[in-house]
Amino acid sequence: MNFLSNLTGSFALQAAGNATVAMIEAAYRHHGLDWRYINCEVRPEALGDAVRGARAMGWAGFNCSLPHKVAVISLLDGLGESASVMGAVNCAVRRDGRFIGENTDGKGFLKSLAEVIDPAGKRVLVFGAGGAARAVTVELALAGAAAITIVNRARERGADLVRLLNDHTAARTDLSAWDSTARVPDGVDILVNCTSIGLFPNVEAALDLDTASLRPGLVVADIVPSPPRTELIQAAEARGCIVVDGLGMLVNQGVISIKYWTGIDADATVMRRTVEAIYG
Ligand code: NDP
Repeated sequence: MNFLSNLTGSFALQAAGNATVAMIEAAYRHHGLDWRYINCEVRPEALGDAVRGARAMGWAGFNCSLPHKVAVISLLDGLGESASVMGAVNCAVRRDGRFIGENTDGKGFLKSLAEVIDPAGKRVLVFGAGGAARAVTVELALAGAAAITIVNRARERGADLVRLLNDHTAARTDLSAWDSTARVPDGVDILVNCTSIGLFPNVEAALDLDTASLRPGLVVADIVPSPPRTELIQAAEARGCIVVDGLGMLVNQGVISIKYWTGIDADATVMRRTVEAIYG
């Protein structure tokens, strides 16, 4: 193989879990692609050298994880639309010899959400205001969501995200304080948990949310990938909601990254089976 131009990987302070590597390499194998995806542990002060190295060796692209998602921007040659609004890149793609920064987190979420609902014109309630919430809400807004309410423990962080969405997108966005048990207001079509509540090993943690306000037919998405059946997903299912788990986002951001790097539409079923085996 033309080894270096078929290289992709992840730059992170701590190497990404084996799940991402296994999932992407399973797709490469399944499609007969002679490509590799490798984890690289990169310290913040070495990020410039890492990107210059990838550029010098002709890598097809790479993912960026914490804490590099913002710092990498000044080392790239341009940004896609949503990455530019979010101010964060999780996927660099070589196009005509230039590295362009994209963000596939929110796009991966939208792809898994699209299996059950089109967010255009819908009212969305989002818990959380961190990096993942930023990616998810910017894509929801760019996909035409009519209104987004952010609920976040730290008020200032929530207010920053509301400002960003109102300044850069057409979605009407507001902040709702989370100082007591939250309820899902009437008229909400989609609820998304973008907090890390319920993430392994704190699997019994649950949102401070009145589950009696989860009405049948409401779409409830949880982006926590491990475990996929969080307390929220289980409560929503028991109330007759339509649920979307966090593995969908994980798999689909990988599908989109592979499409950017190789041009191939990767088989999401093969990738999902791989991460399901790892996350039990
Ligand atoms: P951040 O650290 O940037 O943000 C964490 C968010 O969770 C903040 O809004 C924080 O609120 C909130 N939070 C954490 N603990 C609590 C708590 N006990 N009570 C209330 N709010 C809480 O993390 P990310 O945004 O990067 O990641 C969030 C989640 O998204 C993680 O579980 C991660 O695994 C998941 N994720 C999933 C992906 C997938 O592909 N499925 C991709 C990327 C992320 P506050 O601001 O008040 O601190």
